[in-house]
Amino acid sequence: MRNKTRESKGKAVVVGGSIAGVCAVDTLLSAGWEVVVLEKTTAPPTGSPTGAGVGLDPLSQTIIKSWLPHQQSDNLLNIHTYPSQSIRHLLNQAIDVEKKISRMLTRDESFNFRAAYWSDLHGLLYNALPPDIFLDVFQSFCVSDDKKSVKVQTKVVQTGNIVEFAGDLLVAADGCLSSIRQAFLPDLRLRYSGYSAWRGVLDLSGDENSDIFAGLQKVYQDLGKCLYFDLGSGTHAVLYELLNKKINWIWYINQPEPQVKGNSVTMKVNNNMMKKMQEEAEKTWVPELIRVISKY
Ligand SMILES: Cc1cc2nc3c(=O)[nH]c(=O)nc-3n(C[C@H](O)[C@H](O)[C@H](O)COP(=O)(O)OP(=O)(O)OC[C@H]3O[C@@H](n4cnc5c(N)ncnc54)[C@H](O)[C@@H]3O)c2cc1C
Repeated sequence: MRNKTRESKGKAVVVGGSIAGVCAVDTLLSAGWEVVVLEKTTAPPTGSPTGAGVGLDPLSQTIIKSWLPHQQSDNLLNIHTYPSQSIRHLLNQAIDVEKKISRMLTRDESFNFRAAYWSDLHGLLYNALPPDIFLDVFQSFCVSDDKKSVKVQTKVVQTGNIVEFAGDLLVAADGCLSSIRQAFLPDLRLRYSGYSAWRGVLDLSGDENSDIFAGLQKVYQDLGKCLYFDLGSGTHAVLYELLNKKINWIWYINQPEPQVKGNSVTMKVNNNMMKKMQEEAEKTWVPELIRVISKY
């Protein structure tokens, strides 16, 4: 474990080994804590359906760099080894639906962030951690009367046995439906943001002569260096390139809160919804963006 030689500051239990979990672990290890992670999935979520492109501002880049082994951190600014694209500018533009053209509204030259594919970034952080700190499924916890320690029950996946151990700090990185947060804040409900979103990553890396990519480059001339923010009426879209011709797009549509089942934040999509989405895209965006969206 990192920092083994330093005196331990205490023992932390991190529930959830996704992006927030691995970041918490890195922070705690760097600060001299002993850490165990309880993650219910047995493999790293490389194909995670949540999170496509993650934007890293300069401060996050510096912090991530401090967590990585030297060889990788030295290469942080080398886009061939660090899984992110350098996005220097941010461009807001309004889409003229009649003429199917875009007009620049504002351009930020010093945006200076990096865009990583969610699973690449998670993989990088996950692989930098000692493997022996990942344990089993979190079940329940209780806090001591003096509030100085916590007892956690976990289920061993292989045997199904329940084991209990103690820690000085409990980190709830178990997602937006966190059962730990639920215990402390039972009345807290997720709030609707006011829009629904379609999103995807179109991977054109295997297609050297992709006409979709060439078309995009004509209209989005700074693709690869710029994050595009397209505004339509009651709607907006974000488009940028992740490393290796992977096109990350998100299309936000302002609308009343849709009915989703239970606690879920996503809806089950059917062919009819996809068809409507594509028809709506035709009315809203420039043809080059429509081609990207239509691939879904
Ligand atoms: C459809 C969708 C699209 C998104 N797109 C983007 C995007 O493009 N860019 C972006 O930055 N963000 C995006 N987000 C948000 C992004 O997914 C989240 O911000 C990010 O994944 C949150 O990470 P997290 O670590 O907090 O939680 P999560 O990724 O939800 O991870 C929670 C972890 O806790 C584990 N866990 C839960 N309960 C237990 C338990 N009892 N025992 C053990 N382990 C447990 C889970 O297995 C999981 O690994 C999107 C979210 C959604 C829903």
